[in-house]
Amino acid sequence: MCELCVRASRDVDGKSVFRLAGRGRESHLVVNSPTGQLGDSNFAVDDKAATVCPVGAILKKRVGYVVPIGERVYDREPISAQVKRLATREV
Ligand code: SF4
Repeated sequence: MCELCVRASRDVDGKSVFRLAGRGRESHLVVNSPTGQLGDSNFAVDDKAATVCPVGAILKKRVGYVVPIGERVYDREPISAQVKRLATREV
């Protein structure tokens, strides 16, 4: 729920593939496509939104696990620190 993918898609990629829906505990990430599936959206592997998720929820296919679990940025650095670092620079 950090919204980095939302902002990257909207502000950098110019696509608005993601958005947050709902409020409070009911809030959740939705994909802007007819089926709600990422594969049916105009999301592309080279989109900035494909590289900003601080928890690894959005990973590139076939290369998402090149860095072993335990050594990924998500494993080394608290999510709050990643979000702060990513949010203070151009996503
Ligand atoms: S945690 Fe990942 S999937 Fe969730 S809003 Fe942030 S960037 Fe998007």
